[in-house]
Amino acid sequence: MGETMMNDTPTNIKLKRAERVLEITWSNTSPRRYDARLLRCECRCAGCVDERTGIRTLDVNAVPADIGVERIELVGNYAIKLRFSDGHDTGIYPWDRLDQMNSAL
Ligand SMILES: [Zn+2]
Repeated sequence: MGETMMNDTPTNIKLKRAERVLEITWSNTSPRRYDARLLRCECRCAGCVDERTGIRTLDVNAVPADIGVERIELVGNYAIKLRFSDGHDTGIYPWDRLDQMNSAL
């Protein structure tokens, strides 16, 4: 643990509000699209996931179908923080997680 410093870093992040999609370009790939609702449901902050058990406490059925991302904020050089249209803004999405996430779009 702690030896892997080779995580890919995005070269570009675009918020496509009308499509409710986050488009992330990684160094040697074409842009990948991340659905805002999927990102919201995958949030792992203490309000969405039980810190001790790792079990999701967020009711994903309660997440609006038309939820969008309102703001992207860089967290150091390893992650982004997203503010969603439901007001939720405590989720942090590290590059390696986004890289591994099956965005399936
Ligand atoms: Zn959360």
